[in-house]
Amino acid sequence: MAEQGKIAMVGTPCHMIAAAKMEKYSDYLGASPVDIKIGLFCMENFSYSYMKKLLEKHNVNMKDVTECRVEKGYAWFFLKDNDVLKIPLDEAKTCARKNCNICMDFSSELSDVSVGSVGSPEGWSTVIIRSDKGLNLLKDAEENNYIKTKPLSESGLKILENLSKKKKKENRREINKREKVARPVLYRRPMFDEDFKEEVSKCQFKDLKGDVIDIGACVLCGACYYACPESIISIEDRKPQLRGKCPEGCNLCYVACPRTYITDDILSKENDKKAIGDYIKIVSAKAPMIHGQDGGVVTALLNYALSKKLVDKAVVVDSGLEPWKPEAKLTDNIAEVLSASGTKYAACPVFKSLKNREEI
Ligand SMILES: Cc1cc2nc3c(=O)[nH]c(=O)nc-3n(C[C@H](O)[C@H](O)[C@H](O)COP(=O)(O)OP(=O)(O)OC[C@H]3O[C@@H](n4cnc5c(N)ncnc54)[C@H](O)[C@@H]3O)c2cc1C
Ligand code: SF4
Ligand code: SF4
Ligand code: SF4
Repeated sequence: MAEQGKIAMVGTPCHMIAAAKMEKYSDYLGASPVDIKIGLFCMENFSYSYMKKLLEKHNVNMKDVTECRVEKGYAWFFLKDNDVLKIPLDEAKTCARKNCNICMDFSSELSDVSVGSVGSPEGWSTVIIRSDKGLNLLKDAEENNYIKTKPLSESGLKILENLSKKKKKENRREINKREKVARPVLYRRPMFDEDFKEEVSKCQFKDLKGDVIDIGACVLCGACYYACPESIISIEDRKPQLRGKCPEGCNLCYVACPRTYITDDILSKENDKKAIGDYIKIVSAKAPMIHGQDGGVVTALLNYALSKKLVDKAVVVDSGLEPWKPEAKLTDNIAEVLSASGTKYAACPVFKSLKNREEI
């Protein structure tokens, strides 16, 4: 693949795992285009069809929802006629995607910077800085007045750690339950670098289908679509499908997928024991001029990285035609980054936007 310039990607923890795999397995997949990884906190994502049915039960048509927010124990649906429907979170959680129930990462442990709301006051974001790249980005953005920061309170950190531990504990239980009756959950199986090559050597799309897609582990990230040299995987807002014949020896979709094996040097068993993974520093932050989901910090960091030419483009997720069908965009346009602020509680194949990108 030609040299394509640097890209900042914002995404959920499962997107960050796929980006980390691309970085690590460049021998297979070519140099990763993702240079800065901005991960979001994520408890779960919602299924379009389940949510549609739940809203119908409450006499609401999905098409009339303009915005959804999950906070304060409820899912809030803002409707076209200015009405608001509020559904208790426990009820909304029945619409969570099946793959989210085996996800062990709440705080985007493999990103350069992770951002969420838990732990910080309203209007602020909690920011976990995990790499030198992330540290420099945050420091420079603050010095240039794109964001302001303050220490995260001790009670805020406790809440964040406890929520993350809760996700790990509950979903480990679900993994164990599923493994008893179905196939192993590969991404949490120990795998050492020296065994990886052999394990994946003969795995093609049919194996990805059996090991990930058919058992409800696919996060719909689009990494398989991005990696396929034959361009024979189709992925819309549904499961990835094969539209051709795989040449002998190709295994790239299987290598790239965040729900197949991940070697110990990227994601070790030790991660399960650490509440929020490794980090350098945690702060509360906000971007004074931006109307974001929380502190607007993600949008501000992307703006800063683009304005100062630290990256050439950014991948953002904007609302599609409906709130549960968001679209990923690769852009260098600040207006598009601003318009994509806010959380879309639906899966989005972000890596699709990197395929066939023009030279930048
Ligand atoms: C599915 C989901 C569940 C979440 N659950 C929690 C939670 O339980 N607790 C918590 O503290 N925080 C959660 N978050 C993160 C939180 O909602 C905010 O995104 C985060 O605090 C950043 O806020 P901000 O104001 O800095 O971001 P903003 O400046 O508003 O920017 C948000 C960025 O997120 C990107 N984005 C939006 N939706 C998606 C998506 N579906 N996939 C990939 N990228 C997307 C947009 O491109 C945008 O650039 C969740 C986010 C998502 C996407
Ligand atoms: S698998 Fe689900 S819970 Fe886990 S990061 Fe992805 S969207 Fe969030
Ligand atoms: S050609 Fe390769 S990457 Fe594409 S679907 Fe087949 S095995 Fe996967
Ligand atoms: S099968 Fe494809 S879309 Fe699904 S998790 Fe794996 S790489 Fe992502």
